[in-house]
Amino acid sequence: MIKIIEKEQIAPNIHHCVVEAPEIAKKVLPGQFVILIPDEFCERIPITVADWDANAGTVTFVFLEVGTTTRRLAELKTGDMIYSFTGPLGKPFEISNYGTVVLVGGCYGIGSIYPAAIALKKAGNKVIIYTEARSKFLLYLNDKLEQVADEVRYSTVDGSLGSKGMTGLKKTLNLI
Ligand SMILES: Cc1cc2nc3c(=O)[nH]c(=O)nc-3n(C[C@H](O)[C@H](O)[C@H](O)COP(=O)(O)OP(=O)(O)OC[C@H]3O[C@@H](n4cnc5c(N)ncnc54)[C@H](O)[C@@H]3O)c2cc1C
Repeated sequence: MIKIIEKEQIAPNIHHCVVEAPEIAKKVLPGQFVILIPDEFCERIPITVADWDANAGTVTFVFLEVGTTTRRLAELKTGDMIYSFTGPLGKPFEISNYGTVVLVGGCYGIGSIYPAAIALKKAGNKVIIYTEARSKFLLYLNDKLEQVADEVRYSTVDGSLGSKGMTGLKKTLNLI
């Protein structure tokens, strides 16, 4: 069992959660995930690690409520326990000096961009982040991403922030 030390809804149905997991915080690398079980009646689900602090022994993740298990996870509050939390798992991102790197994400995937951006920046890359959503109010972590990246570009389906539709991304990747 591990303890939730911070939990906040940061966009509709999207939650930001910090837990006490010192062993995972010591070892995890960008791109890795954990398998968690909110309570003994739930299924095990994979969730990507979005940040960590090895000194404080904490791990952060961002999740979207989509079904039974993520809904149960969303009901848990600061101070509650998560029944099982295993990791780090999966192959980490390959971090190297590539020159310019574009990190693209939407929905819960925006969370995992943050540690990747920090590591790629540390490796000497120019880091451009591109996040997309249906509307501005569904975009989150904007301030944190802007602090770590050379540039953050946004795209929304309704045009409320950044470029409208996927045109901005296509331009960024020189597709049009
Ligand atoms: C390696 C890996 C890493 C992952 N990392 C994360 C993460 O960091 N954060 C996170 O939130 N999720 C992440 N996921 C997805 C997460 O594991 C699933 O959303 C979760 O297992 C759903 O379980 P559930 O019981 O809540 O939903 P279920 O009861 O299994 O139902 C899921 C239902 O929601 C639908 N659905 C799935 N995704 C979406 C979506 N984006 N929008 C609308 N409908 C959807 C499905 O089609 C399905 O019908 C990851 C998955 C993998 C494989």
